[in-house]
Parts: sequence; structure tokens; C-alpha cells
Amino acid sequence: AGVTSQRVDVLVIGAGQAGLSAAYHLRRRGFEAASSGFDGRRYAVLDSEAGPGGAWRHRWRSLRMSTVNGISDLPGVAQPEVDPCEASSEFLTRYFGDYERDLGLHIIRPVRVTAVQRHDTDPRGRLLVETDHGSWSTRGLINATGTWTKPFWPIYPGQAAFRGRQLHVADYSSAEEFRGQHVIVVGGGISAVQLLDEISQVTSTSWFTRREPVWREDEFTPQAGHDAVALVEERVRQGLPPQSVVSVTGLIWTPVLRAAAQRGVLHRRPMFAGIEPDGVRLADGGFLAADVILWATGFRAALDHLAPLHLRSPGGGIEMDGTQVAGEPRVHLVGYGPSSSTIGANRAGRAAVATLARWLGSMEPPPA
Ligand code: FAD
Repeated sequence: AGVTSQRVDVLVIGAGQAGLSAAYHLRRRGFEAASSGFDGRRYAVLDSEAGPGGAWRHRWRSLRMSTVNGISDLPGVAQPEVDPCEASSEFLTRYFGDYERDLGLHIIRPVRVTAVQRHDTDPRGRLLVETDHGSWSTRGLINATGTWTKPFWPIYPGQAAFRGRQLHVADYSSAEEFRGQHVIVVGGGISAVQLLDEISQVTSTSWFTRREPVWREDEFTPQAGHDAVALVEERVRQGLPPQSVVSVTGLIWTPVLRAAAQRGVLHRRPMFAGIEPDGVRLADGGFLAADVILWATGFRAALDHLAPLHLRSPGGGIEMDGTQVAGEPRVHLVGYGPSSSTIGANRAGRAAVATLARWLGSMEPPPA
């Protein structure tokens, strides 16, 4: 009781690529960090990580700069020369850290946002942001919390009785720990096929997906990327949950994956019917013994802290108008749906700041 909230004009939650892009564009438009003592428009960026890098801090070590799909530069500062063998987690954490420091972005961490509430329904009213380190009051919110903290685990009958190990790709560190065990990989995305290749180098694997994976024979073109993003964009405009981009584009043959296919590793089985203590019951009634089930089943947007705002639409997603939540001009989601890639995150950060700055300007409160 009696604790006052820190006041800003724009609060950014999350300091991955999307949050840093937003911070960069806020600075360019003359916003200053709350800690600067500046009495014009102020921003703050809160991030729950202990240090820079967003989700890249946690990606498995074998995900190297040569095996990621291409990482866009953060706005305004090119990546330094890349050693393709370096772990993406190390390289990008360093790049993000230098970026924050050199641009003086003043990321506040570790601070986890627990809830965002409306003071009142007037759109000119402030939003109250509660965290594990005090509360903030803001006129506009840019949510850039990514998906990494919300791994998606499907539920299958018998799952709890499995005597082996179950883990999600969010907890994966290296294939070595599975040596000598039979590993089932579930999921049809890039992580699933990359990890099948990697794990099958040290032990036996089986691959299960709900749908037959779609492989692209042609090169992945910018137009194909553009079309995929447009499809996801259309879904979120309608308030439907965003799909993963791979579900739209299909899987791309790389030399490594072609070699894995030749070794027989990418033989896909239809999803199993249930899980038993020592393995899985197959769709055809057979049984497959397994020691490990690795769920490469994706992530969901980490938006639980926005629940008090009741943003969900009947379609199960959040109806979006560009980066803005439809009907709620104070709240922007960046790195969400169509902008959940490094290039998308950059663009969304810029668009959200431009829209929010215009909106704040159009209803500037009287000076205090
Ligand atoms: P993140 O990097 O996840 O950052 C979100 C930040 O918000 C984190 O620091 C998190 O701790 C913080 N946060 C979360 N909740 C809270 C809270 N409640 N309070 C405070 N802080 C919070 N994209 C590409 O373009 N190329 C690739 O090659 C590529 N490879 C990928 C590989 C994998 C395995 C995965 C999972 C994704 C990949 N992507 C790739 C997607 C890309 O990583 C992201 O879309 C992009 O980095 C944008 O990140 P972000 O800023 O939205 O989220």
C-alpha cells in the first residue's frame, strides 16, 4: 500500500528482437528512457531475462549461425562478422548486449510483468502494469514477449504413466544425453527435422507427425515468404490464433536434411494413439518401445499477463489491425503472428512505435 507506480508514456515488455526494435524507434522519435530524468515523453523496457539476447539465450548450443535460417540485423547496427560455427545463442547474446549498451537503451531486468490492467475503459486512461519488482503506469504498451516461455505440449492418453523421459525442445541441450536410447520426436516443423538429424547421429530415432509433412522442392523465394506472412496476417486480422509459418510454407530441403532422408531418418509415421509406460501405441495397433519422447510441438504467444485486458476474440486469437490490437489503441503486439521472425520483429517494432506515437500525439494530456 502507498507504493506509487513509475509513469511512462510507452512501456515495452520484452527485449528480444521485437522489443529492441521498438526501443530503437522510440529513441529515434525523441522518447527518452524513464531513468534519464527527461521530462518529455518517456519509455521503459522491462525484460524478464537476467541478461541480453531474448530467447536466443536459451536456444540449444548446436543451433549455430550456419544452421539458423538467417537472422536480420537489429535496426541501425549491422551484425559483426559471423563465424558460422559459433552457437547462435552466444553470438546473438553478444550482439544484442553490445547493441543495448552502445545505443544506451536502458533495458530494465530482470523484471517479469505479471499483469496489465486498465485503470478505466477510457482509451485515454492509463494502463497499470504489475511486475515482480513494483508497478508501472503507462499510456501505451508494446508487448514483445515472444513465445519461448510458453512451450506447447499436446496431451495424449497415458502420457503421465510414461517411464522414460519427456521433454520439449525448449529444454533440449544436446543429442549426447540420449546416446543408447530410442528417441521419439513429435512434430512437423523445422526444429523437429533439425533435431532428428542431430540425434540420429548418435542414437536411433522415430518421427511422428499429425499431418504428412509438406516438403518444398523449389528454393524458398522472398515471394513465398511474403505470401506466408500475408496468410498469417489475414488470420490474426480475423481474430484467429496465428499459425506457425512452416505450416504455411512447408519444409525446405537443405543438403543436411537430404542426407538425413537418405539415412532413412525422415521416415514419418502417423501420430501414435497413446503413450504407455515403455513406449507408444501406434495408430495401427502395434507397439513401439521408446526411452525418450521429444516434443517438437512448437510454442504459443506468451500473453498470460495480458489476460486482465480480455483481448481474446471468439476465434480464440486476438483480432489485430496491423500491430495494434483491434479496438484497443493503447496496446500493440510485436513479434506476434505474422511478425514472429527477426525481420518481422524489426518491422513490427517500427510500425508499432509510429502508430503509437501518432496516437499519443493526437490525445496529448494537458501538462501536469
Ligand atoms: P524473444 O526473443 O522470445 O524475446 C522476448 C523477451 O520477452 C524475452 O527476453 C523474454 O524473457 C521476455 N519476456 C517474456 N515474457 C515476459 C514477461 N511477462 N515480462 C517481462 N519479459 C518477458 N527467426 C528468424 O528470422 N530466423 C531464424 O533463423 C529463426 N530461427 C529460430 C529458431 C528457433 C528454434 C525458434 C524457436 C525461433 C526462430 N526464429 C527465427 C524466430 C525468432 O527467433 C523470433 O521470431 C524473433 O527472435 C523475435 O523475437 P521476439 O523479440 O519476439 O521474442
